[in-house]
Formats: sequence, C-alpha cells, structure tokens
Amino acid sequence: MTAASDEALDGNAAAGVLAEVFAMDVTAAIGQCAGCGQRSPLGATVAYLQAPGVVLRCRGCDLVLVRVVTGPDRYWVDLSGLSVLRVMRPDDAGPSGA
Ligand SMILES: [Zn+2]
Repeated sequence: MTAASDEALDGNAAAGVLAEVFAMDVTAAIGQCAGCGQRSPLGATVAYLQAPGVVLRCRGCDLVLVRVVTGPDRYWVDLSGLSVLRVMRPDDAGPSGA
C-alpha cells in the first residue's frame, strides 16, 4: 500500500523548490487528495526528486498530488491531484499579532 521506493524521500525533501514557487514553506500546508480524500501536510507525502521535476504522491493511494517542473525561466506547477490545499496565513500563526 505504501508508495515509497528506494528513490522516495518524504515530502519535506521538496521544501526548497516549493519555497521558490510559493515564496513560503508550504510543507506544513494541508493537502487533500483528490483520489482518496486523505488530508496530510505536504511534508508528509512521498517525494520523488529524480523524476522529470519534483513529484509528491499520496501515502494513502499513491496518486500524484503535486508536480513541479523547473524550466530556465519558469515553473510548471500541477496541483490537479489536490482537491484542496489549506495554507495558513502568517498572520494566523499565533495570537501575538502586532
Ligand atoms: Zn490519496
């Protein structure tokens, strides 16, 4: 049932490219799988960094959740495997706002 293989790392391994694309670390964002409905932080998914681009797969059903391909002057981002991505706003990080 697990999607992991010898090439697989956990989703936290994709933090660098995801931070570049989204200008913040979204590994803590909660993604809901469009296939099985499992909700998980992106950092807890299964990451393949040696694919053509970065691929994150669902640990529940192995569906591709996120694909990021890096070109010389742009990124291609496919989030079609996510039905929802919940990203916390920095202002909501705690009660001690200015
Ligand atoms: Zn799934």
